[in-house]
Amino acid sequence: MKITKLTTYRLPPRWMFLKIETDEGIVGWGEPVIEGKVRTVETAVHELGEALIGQDPARINDLWQVMYRGGFYRGGPILMSAIAGIDQALWDIKGKVLNAPVWQLLGGLVRDKIKAYSWVGGDRPAAIIAGIESLRKMGFDTFKLNGCEELSLIDNARKVDTAVSIVAEIRETFGHQIEFGLDFHGRVSAPMAKVLIHELEPYRPLFIEEPVLAEQAEYYPRLAAQTHIPIAAGERMFSRFEFKRVLETGGVSILQPDLSHAGGITECYKIASMAEAYDVGLAPHCPLGPIALAACLHIDFVSRNAIFQEQSMGIHYNQGAELLDFVKNKNDFDMTGGNFSPLTKPGLGVEIDEEHVILRSQNVADWRNPLWRHADGSVAEW
Ligand SMILES: [Mg+2]
Repeated sequence: MKITKLTTYRLPPRWMFLKIETDEGIVGWGEPVIEGKVRTVETAVHELGEALIGQDPARINDLWQVMYRGGFYRGGPILMSAIAGIDQALWDIKGKVLNAPVWQLLGGLVRDKIKAYSWVGGDRPAAIIAGIESLRKMGFDTFKLNGCEELSLIDNARKVDTAVSIVAEIRETFGHQIEFGLDFHGRVSAPMAKVLIHELEPYRPLFIEEPVLAEQAEYYPRLAAQTHIPIAAGERMFSRFEFKRVLETGGVSILQPDLSHAGGITECYKIASMAEAYDVGLAPHCPLGPIALAACLHIDFVSRNAIFQEQSMGIHYNQGAELLDFVKNKNDFDMTGGNFSPLTKPGLGVEIDEEHVILRSQNVADWRNPLWRHADGSVAEW
């Protein structure tokens, strides 16, 4: 079998799908994207794709190394997202050839279900109570919300109190009927993270995500030494070579590699194993589309240290398309009591509605993340 063609489709809300075709008619789908830089990743996919045409899609391990090590310069969000989507599509092809879901090819199930959590409240912490109430009716009991709005490098107590009061209200309203993680979104400086985490401790959040930016990762062990709240990070780390540093220096209790950003299934399975060796949990990052989610679920179902799975149903970013709009087998993503079941169809287990993909990929607007500024006009972290 030989790879014959790679086709990319930029789609709403901020996704890209990749179709890899073979000379035997079997087709695989992947989701290579970095949010806000879709055209850059698209170019990278087609540049990397040159080395794939005419190759046997079954040799995923070798093709991965060709894509990674075949370039003198490697790593980073663009190249690793391109590799990720290609890798997903190759696993999809392998599963379809062998008539087995990807989790079966990775050694079989380690669990029967995985808890999903839901985003609530959007970028700005508002209307969160009502959001949680309606999501609870859908079966969710675990949530994530932004922990604060933009904060200056050293900010005032009023800003801290505002952030804390929202969290206090959630606990007061729901007690321990629900759990929630707080995403600092890299918005918080190291000095303010210290203050904010301390003030939030009485409300016992499940975890604090990206308390500081990945490029300030040396603060993770220092912050962890100060608090009992687990620290989560990893959505802006792109390979084993980056994750090994946080595992070695410690501080992070939950790794959040993104299956569409960190080299795909091949790489993230290895990252998951590295985390297990350090007694660190896994919670794949996934505010993206259905192929990315399917890839995450296959890793969750073969990784003992997977804790829960992010998913984007109803997320504030989903303007113009929802998670399952391009999926034919929507029922396979049904949740029971807020849990996903293993996807059972061959490959990734996502049947893509290609006609709809082609239709919706016409003249799609490019998504950009907002640019925030502080009151003094300087750029703030979003
Ligand atoms: Mg995050």
